[in-house]
Amino acid sequence: KLVLGIESSCDETGVALVRSGAGGALPTLLAHALHSQVQMHQAYGGVVPELASRDHIRRVLPLLRQVLTEADVPLTDVDVVAYTRGPGLAGALLVGAGVACALGAALARPVLGVHHLEGHLLSPFLSADAPQFPFVALLVSGGHTQLMRVDGVGRYELLGETIDDAAGEAFDKTAKLLGLGYPGGPALARLAEYGDPEAFKLPRPLLHSPNLDFSFAGLKTAVLTQARKLESAVCELPRADLAASTQAAIVEVLLKKSLKALQATGLKRLVVAGGVGANQQLRIQLNAACQARGVRVHYPELELCTDNGAMIAMAAAMRLQAGVQQPRSDYAFDVRPRWPLDAIDA
Ligand code: ATP
Ligand code: MG
Ligand code: FE
Repeated sequence: KLVLGIESSCDETGVALVRSGAGGALPTLLAHALHSQVQMHQAYGGVVPELASRDHIRRVLPLLRQVLTEADVPLTDVDVVAYTRGPGLAGALLVGAGVACALGAALARPVLGVHHLEGHLLSPFLSADAPQFPFVALLVSGGHTQLMRVDGVGRYELLGETIDDAAGEAFDKTAKLLGLGYPGGPALARLAEYGDPEAFKLPRPLLHSPNLDFSFAGLKTAVLTQARKLESAVCELPRADLAASTQAAIVEVLLKKSLKALQATGLKRLVVAGGVGANQQLRIQLNAACQARGVRVHYPELELCTDNGAMIAMAAAMRLQAGVQQPRSDYAFDVRPRWPLDAIDA
C-alpha cells in the first residue's frame, strides 16, 4: 500500500510517501519534503499560531507535488492519506486534517489520523539501523520529555515524564537568555563546543529521585541567576561556558534516567527520538554508557529528529500493517490538540 503522510502540528509542514512492506518487512520511504517556518517565527521569538496555520496552507500543496514528482508516482496511486491528528496547535492541525480529508474524498481513499509523538517514536524505523521491539524509548522533543516502554506498534507504557519544562524547552529558554535566538537548541549546542561544561555548577533536578520523572524548569532560573551575578559584576558573560554547563546538566539527567529505565525494565535496547535526539553530546554520552552495558541504541537520521512528514507516513503504515488501526472514510476533520500518547487506542 502507498501511504501519504502530512505533518502540520506546529511550525514545519511535511509531506511524505511510504510504501508498506510485504509480509513482515518494514515500510520504505519513497520521498519526503519539508518546509520549516522557523525563519518566519524568529522575529517574534516563538511560534505565532495564526501565522503557522496560514503558512501550512501556502506550503502543503507545493510540497505534495514535489513528493509525487520525486517518487515518480501519480496522486491516484495513493491508497491511504495519513495526517497528524494531534497533539499540537489546533489551527495548524486543521490544515493537515483538512487537506488529508479533501484528498481522501477526491480520490475516494480512506484517511488515517496519527499521533505526532508516535511519529517521533517510530522515526528510528526509517533509518538503516532500525530497532526491534521491545525497547525503552527516550522521547525528547520541544514539548515532551518522556521515558516509555515500547512492546510493539501501539503498545506504549509511560515510565516517567517531565513535571514541568521539556528538555527541548530547557535548551530553547536558556538559549534565549544567552541571546541565541529561537529555537536556540542547536545554537546552544554549537556554542557549547567552545565552553567548559564544568565551569558552572547548575542543578540536576530529580537526578536521584526514585522515579523516572524529569524537571527542567529550575535550570533556566539557575542560568538566569548566574548571568545576573556576572552582569552586575560588569563582566562579559562567558556565554560558551554557560552554554556548555547547561548542556551538560540536561544531558546528564537524560542519560542517568535512561539508564535507570533500562535497568528497571531489564531491556537491552534504547531508542531516542525527538529534536533533542539530534544533540551530539547526548549521542556521544548515551553511546558510551550503553556500549559499556551491552545496550543497543537507535536514533532517527539527524534530519528526521525534528518534525517531518516521513515519520507520520511511517507511523501510519506501521499501524496499518500491524492491524492496530483502520483508516476512516467519514472525512471528519478530526484533530486532538491535547492528546496523551498512552491514551491512543491500540
Ligand atoms: P513536540 O514534538 O513535543 O510537539 P516539537 O515538535 O516542537 O515538540 P521537535 O521538532 O521534535 O519538537 O524538536 C524541536 C526541539 O529540539 C527544539 O526545542 C530544539 O531546540 C531542539 N533541538 C533540535 N536540535 C537540537 C540540538 N542539536 N541540541 C539540542 N536541542 C535541539
Ligand atoms: Mg518545530
Ligand atoms: Fe515534534
